[in-house]
Amino acid sequence: MPRLQAATPRPAPGPAVASASRSAEADAPPTRPAYQKFAVEVRPSAIDGQGAFAAETVPARLKIGEIRGESISVAEARQRAARSERIMIVELSTRRAIDFSRSADPMRYTNHSCRPNARLCIRQGRVEFYALRDIAPGEEITVNYGETHHEGRLACRCGVAGCRGAL
Ligand SMILES: [Zn+2]
Repeated sequence: MPRLQAATPRPAPGPAVASASRSAEADAPPTRPAYQKFAVEVRPSAIDGQGAFAAETVPARLKIGEIRGESISVAEARQRAARSERIMIVELSTRRAIDFSRSADPMRYTNHSCRPNARLCIRQGRVEFYALRDIAPGEEITVNYGETHHEGRLACRCGVAGCRGAL
């Protein structure tokens, strides 16, 4: 399983989803990288911090998008995690990890849920997200983080029945 370190980092400054850009969207579609297949917006989440929310319908099984970040060694990843309270790292293997703390990809804000509507998939060094079922516009996109470095010390606030209670 991928090992996710910590939950949502603080919102990054930058273009994101400023209300001023809404009117411009009617004229020109918002630009996003080709690997971000569906429109996703970042806004405050009832689960934790910021969340990634579907901005359009995502059909079951389809790829939603990816997070790309800085490729580093697992040793470096562990050092960074020890230095920082909020960091987001995926260990791809026993040797390589990706730090997407500074990534602009909206999927980096994906929160954990014990009953997720999407799954995280590591494929050829890429961190990809796929819908487990149809996701409606406005729904928060969630995945099961699986094994984390928190070792059960971080309370889960996903709010679903059967929540395991901790990450
Ligand atoms: Zn939970």
